[in-house]
Amino acid sequence: MNYAEFYKQSIDDPQAFWGKQAELISWHRPYKQVLDNSNPPFSKWFVGGETNLCFNAVDRWVETQGDKPALIAISTETNSEKVYSFRELQREVERMAAIMKSLGVGKGDRVLIYMPMIAEACFAMLACARIGAIHSVVFGGFASNSLATRIADAQPKLVVSVDAGSRGGKRVPYKPLLDAAIELSEYKPNRVLLVDRGLVPMEWVTGRDVDYAAARTQHMDAQVPVTWLESNEASYILYTSGTTGRPKGVQRDVGGHAVALAASMKHIYCGKAGETYFSSSDIGWVVGHSYIIYGPLITGMATIMYEGLPIAPDPGIWWSIVEKYKVTRMFTAPTAIRVLKKYPTEFMHKYDLSSLKTLYLAGEPLDETTSHWVSSELGVPVIDNYWQTETGWPILTIVKGIEDLPTKLGSPGIPVYGYKVKILNEATGEECGANEKGVVVIEGPLPPGCMQTVYGDDDRFAKTYWNNFANKQVYSTFDWGIRDADGYYFILGRTDDVINVAGHRLGTREIEESISSHSNVAEVAVVGVEDKLKGQVAVAFVILKNAANVNSAESKLAMEKEIMAVVDKHLGALARPARVHFVTLLPKTRSGKLLRRSLQAICEGRDPGDLTTIEDPSSLEQIRLVMQG
Ligand code: AMP
Repeated sequence: MNYAEFYKQSIDDPQAFWGKQAELISWHRPYKQVLDNSNPPFSKWFVGGETNLCFNAVDRWVETQGDKPALIAISTETNSEKVYSFRELQREVERMAAIMKSLGVGKGDRVLIYMPMIAEACFAMLACARIGAIHSVVFGGFASNSLATRIADAQPKLVVSVDAGSRGGKRVPYKPLLDAAIELSEYKPNRVLLVDRGLVPMEWVTGRDVDYAAARTQHMDAQVPVTWLESNEASYILYTSGTTGRPKGVQRDVGGHAVALAASMKHIYCGKAGETYFSSSDIGWVVGHSYIIYGPLITGMATIMYEGLPIAPDPGIWWSIVEKYKVTRMFTAPTAIRVLKKYPTEFMHKYDLSSLKTLYLAGEPLDETTSHWVSSELGVPVIDNYWQTETGWPILTIVKGIEDLPTKLGSPGIPVYGYKVKILNEATGEECGANEKGVVVIEGPLPPGCMQTVYGDDDRFAKTYWNNFANKQVYSTFDWGIRDADGYYFILGRTDDVINVAGHRLGTREIEESISSHSNVAEVAVVGVEDKLKGQVAVAFVILKNAANVNSAESKLAMEKEIMAVVDKHLGALARPARVHFVTLLPKTRSGKLLRRSLQAICEGRDPGDLTTIEDPSSLEQIRLVMQG
């Protein structure tokens, strides 16, 4: 079957199409109905079916390939490397599950995981899946305020964390940030389970904090049967940034999620049981959920969890991993490749990379130079994937496993099976013609594996994503795009205030709220500005309450540092603006709305567009001046 036919089948007869894909996973009880779309936009997949993600990722492989590698945990930060077979992984997950149960965690309870890329984080995710608890992994780079909002929203019974992470040899304490977050949050988790890596000393809170190593010894022989879950029960929450300062908890189901990942591993990533998959992301992001933990394991592949920089101890580290573990499929972000491109290619060529079949890049626009360079140096095809936290797996790409269609530079590809992708005119909601810019939307129902709702807020899910066009209920990606005459799509940036720094999504509102908390800040605007290495960086424009003492270059620099430190403390260094500029006016409309797109355009040296509604044009002149110098 060619891809056009495969795609058409998925759209014309989703019941038959997804019913076939559902055979890729193991069901405890068969489903009664493939799709129930009687209450859009809340679609239900595999209704009545019972399954379990942990069973599919671990137990079912123990029977057929128990001694083969499942999890390969490598840290160049602590110089450790450990391979867990499927059997060993099952033992560790059962121990972790037993500990969680002993701490009162049961089906439907939330468990917040705030951990670096260590094996125990994988055990914790799979243990939740095993007992039907809902995990909410928070990226380790987020600081106490970000963590506190997530604790307050998810209300976890248990938090699993560590003493510290490590980055470039520098220890990054987690525990004090977690303690501060719990202090800040109105909701307090009952228990905190701590993996003591021996990296930094920890202060233990009596009665609340539990030592993982000690608890583990008490559950060495634990056998914890899987809890079978109805396909549409929640498996996890992952927070993502949007237009408001309040992050949204993307909630995913169990059955649809497992089927979508299994199908993508087969058709898009062409991975096979017994092979090794290497995704360089982090469990704190959606890629980490889908393509470090669940996707590869559900397929019976070994997966690599790597803690460390791509350039330490030297820029050959990733390629040495590919050689050693005979990685067949690799997944990373364009930013990482741009970093590696700065170093001599010997670092790549001294390793035998013949096992590698394809490199997948995603998370941000892929530029032609990067794509060309890495593809020709590695001698393998590079496949661009376009997707979002909300969808959990690719929307646009080349589905190589069905038909090896040509790629087009600058385009992630064509719609993936199951996704009815359209480009709509922002104002009229009419479908755009070829090469006409509009908003990328998906007609419902979304395929399996996509978000079910915003955790605890169905209304927000419907309003935020499905209510952007009059008389048309379609899912908005909040991305601009075009489709060319051959049906290839091109992504042209976000329609909202979300920015993408090194493949990581940040809400400018969150950064603005953090900066506003500085006592001398009267007003602030944060925009994403093009950056050669990271794709985009955040740049802040601040109006001070009292600017009298901030007029020299030194005092401006000191204030800039102070403001950056506030963001570091609240949100984490990831969200820190690359520059903070001081102005006395911000470009606004007469009704007081910030002209973000114009501001961003000026920062990037582009035409600011329609300025008929601007209140005071001199505001843009100020921005131009500070940017110049
Ligand atoms: P996240 O949810 O953090 O994965 O961010 C999703 C957003 O990243 C999308 O809405 C796009 O704006 C951007 N994005 C992801 N993948 C790509 C890609 N391959 N090309 C261009 N933009 C992308």
